[in-house]
Amino acid sequence: MNEQYQHVYEEVSKCNRCGFCQAHCPIFAVTGSEKNVARGHNAHVRGLAEEKMEINADFKDALFECLLCKACVSNCFPAVRTDKAVVAGRAEYIKRVGQPKAMRLVFHTLLPDQEKLGKFVRLLALGKNTGLSKLARAMGILSWFGKDMDKAEGIVEKIPRTFFRQKVGTLRLEPAKVKTEVAYFVGCGFNYMLPHVSESTVEVLVGQGARVKIADNCCCGLPAYGYGDMEAARNMARKNIEALEKLKTEVIVTECGSCSAFLKEYPELFEDDQIMKKRAEAIAKKVKGFSEFMAPQIGALSANSLEGKKITYHDPCHMSRYQGVVKEPRDLIKKIPGVTYTEMPEADRCCGGAGSYNIMHYEQSMKVLEKKMENLKKTGADILTTECPGCVIQLSYGVRKAGLPIKVLHISELIKEASRKG
Ligand code: SF4
Ligand code: SF4
Repeated sequence: MNEQYQHVYEEVSKCNRCGFCQAHCPIFAVTGSEKNVARGHNAHVRGLAEEKMEINADFKDALFECLLCKACVSNCFPAVRTDKAVVAGRAEYIKRVGQPKAMRLVFHTLLPDQEKLGKFVRLLALGKNTGLSKLARAMGILSWFGKDMDKAEGIVEKIPRTFFRQKVGTLRLEPAKVKTEVAYFVGCGFNYMLPHVSESTVEVLVGQGARVKIADNCCCGLPAYGYGDMEAARNMARKNIEALEKLKTEVIVTECGSCSAFLKEYPELFEDDQIMKKRAEAIAKKVKGFSEFMAPQIGALSANSLEGKKITYHDPCHMSRYQGVVKEPRDLIKKIPGVTYTEMPEADRCCGGAGSYNIMHYEQSMKVLEKKMENLKKTGADILTTECPGCVIQLSYGVRKAGLPIKVLHISELIKEASRKG
């Protein structure tokens, strides 16, 4: 293994093979396979570093089937950063074997460019609404993204006609009395798939006296990082650091749990470039997730249409395990008068969405989702809320599939509803 992975080797060497991680891994729970659990991943990466491991289909499957949910890390006595080991193993894999062309196109051409990505999403929407996807499937285009792409198409119910950025000109970004100024980082999931959530976030921020500056950002880079494409992840991070610096705000808010987690990790991408690292640190310090920013400052809320509702919360892995934000969303929900908060069993268990995991590994992801739905049913909740676009989409699919009469809302939509004046 390349010298740059020395720190990962030190990390995996801490694994004492106790196997305690087995009981906490959602993928081990559905496959029962040692290669899918943290102990197995650490052994694979260690073997790679010691040049004893052959890179073959088995190696690839094992590493790419991990959700990067970090449940193993949170339940490991030596706290081995298996997530980092898995990503380093993936990076080594694509370096040696190469990357599918479609994936390179997504990470290097589409995700760094809002306009190109917008056109691509339009094309997807057209396919979804007119049957073009059947043609794409026949041509084998969809299969680039995974063998279960056909089934996975149903996860996204519909792609909206208008993206959030196209609506910005019509939104109120300035409160009557400005108390603070924030930059709003627009996550791709919200811009293209759930623009109404972005609108809610902006409305709540303005309602709390914040002047909102919309960042001219691209994708945060997490999808590329997760698949081991460090070059693409760094490229997007550089662009975003520049875009956020221009806004000169003290706070950067995003309601995307994955974006906030990754923006806070930007400094780690630039260990070999001290100037960029310092700029990344300055940005990372300013980043706040929606509930992290709102919980300490939001006052009394009204209940309105929520009165009498039973609400539960799903912890996105990138909020709870990557950022330690657990209390804040619950505090926010408990500020809504007239509602009951009910804790879901295993609320922090991954829903199986994990970025594009549900598309690339549909069957596995659905088994993980089934467990989440079982836990959800036990709550008897009317509303399930969370703080990540991937989770909103995956959980909405789970509720639709299971035919449950439960509304899935992002927490900013919930707070917008509770902030409405009678
Ligand atoms: S990753 Fe942690 S919990 Fe799992 S076997 Fe290694 S030391 Fe034990
Ligand atoms: S990150 Fe999650 S899916 Fe991957 S090994 Fe750890 S617990 Fe299992």
